[in-house]
Amino acid sequence: MKSAMVRVFVSTLFYSGALNAFQTRTRQNFVKKVPQVPQVFPFGVLLYHRVNSDADPYFPGISTEVFDAQMRYLARHYRVLSLGEIFRRIESGVEIEPYTIAITFDDGYRDNLTCAHPILRKYRLPATLFVSTGYIGSDGAIWNDQVSWAFKHTNRKDFTLEIANQHLALRLGSESDRLRSLSLVLERLKGVSDFEKTCIVDTVVAELNGKKPRHGKLMLSWGELRQMVKEGWEIGSHTVNHVILTRVKTAVVRDELRESKETLQRELGRPISLFAYPNGKQMDFDLSIKDLLRLAGYKAAVTTLDGLNDANTDLFEIRRRSPWESYLPSFATKLLYLYRKETSNPHGQMFQGRCFYETQR
Ligand SMILES: [Zn+2]
Repeated sequence: MKSAMVRVFVSTLFYSGALNAFQTRTRQNFVKKVPQVPQVFPFGVLLYHRVNSDADPYFPGISTEVFDAQMRYLARHYRVLSLGEIFRRIESGVEIEPYTIAITFDDGYRDNLTCAHPILRKYRLPATLFVSTGYIGSDGAIWNDQVSWAFKHTNRKDFTLEIANQHLALRLGSESDRLRSLSLVLERLKGVSDFEKTCIVDTVVAELNGKKPRHGKLMLSWGELRQMVKEGWEIGSHTVNHVILTRVKTAVVRDELRESKETLQRELGRPISLFAYPNGKQMDFDLSIKDLLRLAGYKAAVTTLDGLNDANTDLFEIRRRSPWESYLPSFATKLLYLYRKETSNPHGQMFQGRCFYETQR
């Protein structure tokens, strides 16, 4: 009942033109404290993973149609810049205008090229892709996709699994049982060490299916990635093996940061300075990992913490929003609400004339 009322409310706002009128008016109301000094108005970063029309509940993604509608909306109502361009502008003292936003993708799924890319090109929108290099050009899959594959293809009716000394009695009789159990296992696996996780993933695949998983061309190849770079995509690192960095030893963190950067630079022939933390929640990175990122030569890192960014945001804790809303009026209203909420200072923030990269520690 409540969600139906919300839907009516956001539809009215959106289709009556009230939302656009509000955004136009507030854009005009942004006033500079000192007209000659460039300012950094709060900017958003959107996070996508898969974009396709498969509607596969085991491998959720945003539909091509919904993605098209969201990109069309952003192209009309927001200032879309690549993440690197935003940082370059801030560093050189160029203004970040009100309602600036960046579009990013994580992991390196092939449908980013086959489904998302034509839409981005249609609306001339830049985007950044964070790649786990170990899966590029392989027929393997990131651990969560391996587990999803096993749950999708099993004939078992139930399954008992031990994760972090806890016995999980999992029901697999119906599709809703399998999806609920899958979600529980994926969540629990995020909390264990990388070594333990690898062992459990192997057990799950063997016990639920017994066959070697076939993921086909789920991930991009190096040739496809080079083609995307040629067509304007910005690429960043997302480690080699998609490890959660706080769940592995320091030496492994160092290797994952260095090796992914070097591989991308060698394969793509350009410097790599942006990074995305796998999982990206507060518990998935810490001060020492941020120091290791700086030492490895990265200039900024993105999280999955929700919210906007401004001139005071730690460059190694850039916030991103996952736009799961498939209904465009909800997407538009929530996004505008976020910008209004986080622009508590309607005048934006003064750019101090300092080097943005160096002052953020
Ligand atoms: Zn990821």
